[in-house]
Amino acid sequence: MPTTSLPWTRHHILSLADFTTAEYDTVLRTAASFREVLSRRTKKVPTLQGQVVANLFFEPSTRTRSSFELAAKRLSADTLNFATATSSMTKGETILDTAKTYLAMGCDIMVIRHQQAGVPNAIAAEMDRLGTRVSVLNAGDGQHEHPSQGLLDLFTIASLIDSDNPRLELLKGKKIAIVGDIVHSRVARSNIWSLIASGAEVHLAAPPTLLPQLFAEYVSDEQREVSCPPLPTPNSPLPTPQLFVHWQLEPALRDADFVMTLRLQKERMTANLLPSLREYHQMFGITREALRLCKSNVKVLHPGPVNRGVEISSDLMDDPEFSLIQAQVTSGVAVRMALLYLIGSGKV
Ligand code: ASP
Repeated sequence: MPTTSLPWTRHHILSLADFTTAEYDTVLRTAASFREVLSRRTKKVPTLQGQVVANLFFEPSTRTRSSFELAAKRLSADTLNFATATSSMTKGETILDTAKTYLAMGCDIMVIRHQQAGVPNAIAAEMDRLGTRVSVLNAGDGQHEHPSQGLLDLFTIASLIDSDNPRLELLKGKKIAIVGDIVHSRVARSNIWSLIASGAEVHLAAPPTLLPQLFAEYVSDEQREVSCPPLPTPNSPLPTPQLFVHWQLEPALRDADFVMTLRLQKERMTANLLPSLREYHQMFGITREALRLCKSNVKVLHPGPVNRGVEISSDLMDDPEFSLIQAQVTSGVAVRMALLYLIGSGKV
């Protein structure tokens, strides 16, 4: 459990876009101390005793919802769980009225997932407007952001490099490939913010239909010729010289230290964006053969849930020599304890 008082003033955690180095390092250090708590025989601390954490999940989730619930319980908070299908939303109640119901029950922290971008921000704004002290934590909003996933990925990587003292600067100069359905991925967006902040070299690789338009103009001319005709591009400046965009897998994987592969989010696809899953796997699937392009000690991450045999081969996913997928899930509890602790400890 953290013993020193850490600098923390953020009230809501909605995005990583404006996270500072000090905030990243505070989260990493705090998560490391909670990882130690979780390795003890008694895995519980009284830090948030008496506080109420409500998990408001308007979209399905396994890992994020369960790990926020476990994190809150390990901190001795009381937890409330909401799922749309069994709630009064089926009777027409609005999202804001649902949030106000939890406020009236004395909720201190709302952990919110919604299929539409901006819902956690809207609830946070309403809580502030009402003059409450409720904090909102974005647990994934549409295609916008998934900050706790970005932070747990960061913690997983930094801990692999220096388990005792995970910190942002450890990723500086590392080559990290983010591969797959980037256009629909809030995980990719949060990771881009944290990885760029760390000084890593970030390589995005996806077919043109799965890359946000914003990035299309950064694809090299050489790749345009071999991939497909150029897409219409907006006039936006190159976000950062650390970000590289590819329509092919190979340049992203060459000498990579880490590969983050993403699920094909079929539920968000409004059109047929791919010829076939088989062809996608052949071109962008992460397999043992594809990993030969990377550094020999490369590690693979995936936020889950996984389409086995589509974005990653099934055997690779289960191979502890390469796969960090289970480590990510374990990190998720410590990181979410850290986030609840940091925003919750100022309330008591
Ligand atoms: N679990 C992650 C999310 O909620 C990734 C995914 O669903 O593919 O965004």
